Amino acid sequence: GPVPKSANSTASVTPPPGELEDDNVAYYIKKKLNVWCRQPKGKWERGTIQSTSGEKASVSLLNGNVMKVSRLELLPANPDILEGVDDLIHLSYLNEPSVLHNLQFRYSQDIIYSKAGPILIALNPFKDVHVYGNDLLSAYRQRTIDSPHVYAMADAAYNEMIRDEVNQSIIISGESGSGKTETAKIAMQYLAALGGGSCGIENEVLQTNFILEAFGNAKTSRNDNSSRFGKLIEIHFSTLGKICGAKIQTFLLEKSRVVQLANGERSYHIFYQLCAGSSADLRERLNLRVASEYKYLNQSDCMTIDGVDDAKNFHQLMKALDVVRMSIEDQKHVFKMLAAILWLGNISFNAADNENHIEVVKDEAVTTAALLMGCSSQELMTALSTRKIQAGKDTIAKMLTLRQAIDTRDALAKFIYANLFDWLVEQVNKSLEVGKRRTGRSISILDIYGFESFQKNSFEQFCINYANERLQQHFNRHLFKLEQEDYELDGVDWTKVDFDDNQECLDLFEKKPLGLLSLLDEESNFPRASDLTLANKLKQHLNANPCFKEEMGRAFSVRHYAGEVLYDTNGFLEKNRDPLPSDSIQLLSSCTCELLRLFSKTLNHSQKQSNSFHAGSLDSKKQSVGTKFKGQLFKLMNQLESTTPHFIRCIKPNTKQLPGIYDEDLVLQQLKCCGVLEVVRISRAGYPTRMMHQEFARRYGFLLSEVNTSQDPLSISVSVLQQFNIPPEMYQVGFTKLYLRTGQIGALEDKRKQF
Ligand code: ATP
Ligand code: MG
Repeated sequence: GPVPKSANSTASVTPPPGELEDDNVAYYIKKKLNVWCRQPKGKWERGTIQSTSGEKASVSLLNGNVMKVSRLELLPANPDILEGVDDLIHLSYLNEPSVLHNLQFRYSQDIIYSKAGPILIALNPFKDVHVYGNDLLSAYRQRTIDSPHVYAMADAAYNEMIRDEVNQSIIISGESGSGKTETAKIAMQYLAALGGGSCGIENEVLQTNFILEAFGNAKTSRNDNSSRFGKLIEIHFSTLGKICGAKIQTFLLEKSRVVQLANGERSYHIFYQLCAGSSADLRERLNLRVASEYKYLNQSDCMTIDGVDDAKNFHQLMKALDVVRMSIEDQKHVFKMLAAILWLGNISFNAADNENHIEVVKDEAVTTAALLMGCSSQELMTALSTRKIQAGKDTIAKMLTLRQAIDTRDALAKFIYANLFDWLVEQVNKSLEVGKRRTGRSISILDIYGFESFQKNSFEQFCINYANERLQQHFNRHLFKLEQEDYELDGVDWTKVDFDDNQECLDLFEKKPLGLLSLLDEESNFPRASDLTLANKLKQHLNANPCFKEEMGRAFSVRHYAGEVLYDTNGFLEKNRDPLPSDSIQLLSSCTCELLRLFSKTLNHSQKQSNSFHAGSLDSKKQSVGTKFKGQLFKLMNQLESTTPHFIRCIKPNTKQLPGIYDEDLVLQQLKCCGVLEVVRISRAGYPTRMMHQEFARRYGFLLSEVNTSQDPLSISVSVLQQFNIPPEMYQVGFTKLYLRTGQIGALEDKRKQF
């Protein structure tokens, strides 16, 4: 549908909502109404205004202190009856301190779920909050409970799927450690219980989580079990509403983690599980050592995770592989590849001449890696220490420098791991494949990295934030549509609602030929390009876009919907090209290991051919990482477009991964980034308070000076509005409901209390 850009026409109609105006401060003093008062350090405290003089107000805080502050530091607080409401939209005042306080009030009572209109907010409790399990599951199923919960959202998705015969999606976002993956699992458990049939496929679907987490999750500084990939799982239901299959898609696995670790972080769980839990027989076949003997693992100071038993998890993994019916043969292949990667990392190099060239040290590492890969040690050593170059009609082998050799070795390890991951997902999908039976509908659950903004942001954040812009647009449009439908159905004038879109930022990324992704690809094809030439090119062509901002040197900034992010182009070209030398490709295609031969084929033919003609140079036909990701994202958005979406926003209340700590600034920043405040804003721009005429008449009708019992609810409602001088721009009367702007119901409640 058409999406209006931010139109200022409504600004004059809507007064800045929830501000304390000159003419109502007196009222606040008289009625001792709650206000929020900003403290010198930025925290908001609740209190009541005692008096004012000029621009200053004296506020008596709940903690007993009295403060003199500028009136600009005051915001209205909600009436007590609204304390801890389960939907933020019910708040009369939707200012930041009110939203933060409401969530905190609930969190302190272990109520981790709340709603913001159609969005479910989930605060990570970092402890067991006893709100799951069979009893609650059936309570939500039978609707004897209706407080916000993942169960309720999964239930709504399931029912709408059956009722409307439309596919559904549950879109979960939030920053690292906020609880996305746990929330996705809770939703899956609910659906498995609801749609469990006789064939047990729901158990298989649940077991896939364990496999994906072993290979795609790792300990990071922010989360002991951080997913290093995005995931969409599509759960299919038969026409009878029973689970009959599933399909998993993954996005952008972080490959660099296989070869490079920050302190305090680990590589993928599976490596430690394998080293700790494999049988004596397997250890012997793979020449396996303890994890700390592998350079790819011991380069960080972190080998174990508190409370995690890698050996036990390895056994659970093997069971999960059995559940998805992976053959013992295939399982052996997988473990062999993992061991090969670990041994590759132990390969070292010696100086070979005075020109910085190296040769491979022929030791246990290289012989074991070659053995596991199914090639000769000599072949592997040649591929890691030389590069074939075409000189006229001849091919000559050029020796590599230490840096080049390490990059080649690491590129090989990353390539094998990424392909192994994709292959595993493919195997899991085969086992979950939707049967030949005609299927009914599906519910897709998206667990994808949220918006990221660090001090230093690289190519990874660039891709992640681009994805989040796309998701945000989807989210906005959906919300907008929902609102529009609701208003139009009820005969309310829709043109008075204001709305923002992020199309400009998406254009900055996607426009051809002058967008971030195109320019990045263009520069990636220049052999002599550098990060600096890339930065200059971006500045030269994109300055006109209001979402682009020039920065010093190699950097540039993007004004994202969630805030401005500074990107450092260092490494952008290399990560976007993600090259694998043709010598390595040739090596893989000649290995006796079937998996490696298979992986070598995933690189399209044109690359191999062109590489053999222009050996050593990057082939222009190979899809860049950025372009590939864009393609995946478009496909994902298309898929989501055809579903009815349900949104869950996960929030991390503290960075310590500890229960009971609520860091207001951290929560606020996430509410902004994940669009919760945007929802609040959109509803503020509209008429967030909606009440059926009957309900309104029942609640406030008695306030009328002349009660006419024969009047219908609609007339009573209108009389109430008129008697209390609610200005006409503050409400609209629909066929069934009354629509009120923010703050209006609070005023009526006050009148009601006075009575
Ligand atoms: P990442 O983006 O790094 O993958 P994430 O958002 O997927 O992070 P999770 O791995 O789901 O985060 O959650 C991090 C940790 O928080 C969990 O390992 C668990 O300890 C805790 N946690 C999350 N949700 C809940 C919950 N509902 N109840 C109890 N603990 C939870
Ligand atoms: Mg996760």
